[in-house]
Amino acid sequence: MNASSSPSPSSPRRVAVLGASGRMGTAACRAVEKAEDLELVARIGRGDDLSALTEAGAEVAIDLTVPSATADNVHWLIDHGIHAVVGTTGWTEEALQELRTRLAAADGVGVLIAPNFAIGAVLAMRFAEIAARYYDSAEIIEMHHEKKLDAPSGTARHTAAAIARGRAAAGLGAMPDATEHDPDGARGAVVDGVHVHAVRQRGLVAHEVVQFGGVGEQFVLRHDSFDRISFMPGVLLGVREVAAHPGLTVGLDGYMDLG
Ligand code: NAP
Repeated sequence: MNASSSPSPSSPRRVAVLGASGRMGTAACRAVEKAEDLELVARIGRGDDLSALTEAGAEVAIDLTVPSATADNVHWLIDHGIHAVVGTTGWTEEALQELRTRLAAADGVGVLIAPNFAIGAVLAMRFAEIAARYYDSAEIIEMHHEKKLDAPSGTARHTAAAIARGRAAAGLGAMPDATEHDPDGARGAVVDGVHVHAVRQRGLVAHEVVQFGGVGEQFVLRHDSFDRISFMPGVLLGVREVAAHPGLTVGLDGYMDLG
């Protein structure tokens, strides 16, 4: 099916939210309702029939559901020519590859998979890639609320990949680490050669610290989302840009001019 056609400059873009009663979905519904250039046309919860989206004429759908549901939702959206802005985490490289294959057969549909909608977190990932070229050591500490289902976070995984790219570009090898004995996994997970430590704690929202070490110095990048409202400028950027980017984009930085 063809992608939803662009609205005329005067008509607001028609937006649906999947996972509308969740914590992120509730905030996204509010943000869309407040935006003058957008119209909230459908709120979808678990068990609701997705045909409500086509009946409402949705052009863009925001998926903020659960890892077990998001891939089926996005496949349905692609098959029905609706652009998708996805914040739900848990996407594997295999699942992304399947999306690319489906999108190749779809006409002009755009899908954004954004592990983090917070602008500061996206900048931190970019800055981490640059800093990684100059330091011997780099580790990530990600901290989230106690209800988060997956660990480490999608943002931490992407930050680790960015650090690995930076180190590879600079020709850096493995990081110095004399640990020989760690029966309890105290050194954390290792993602793309980078140690990642996940903290789950009541009272937190989403936080990341990236610590770089060189001889005689430390450089720390830190981003804190204190409230889910911090994700909304990124969600709205995604909704406004997705139709102009057919195919798959992974990471909100794909819609930002970060050089
Ligand atoms: P949440 O409060 O648990 O909300 C998820 C909602 O999705 C629930 O209302 C759930 O309904 C609903 N749902 C489940 N299956 C569904 C389906 N098939 N169709 C429609 N709705 C369905 O979780 P949250 O904190 O809002 O987070 C949602 C997702 O966003 C998570 O994957 C989280 O990691 C991610 N997240 C991303 C960012 C980012 O910046 N990218 C930031 C924060 C969170 P029930 O309650 O009935 O199960």
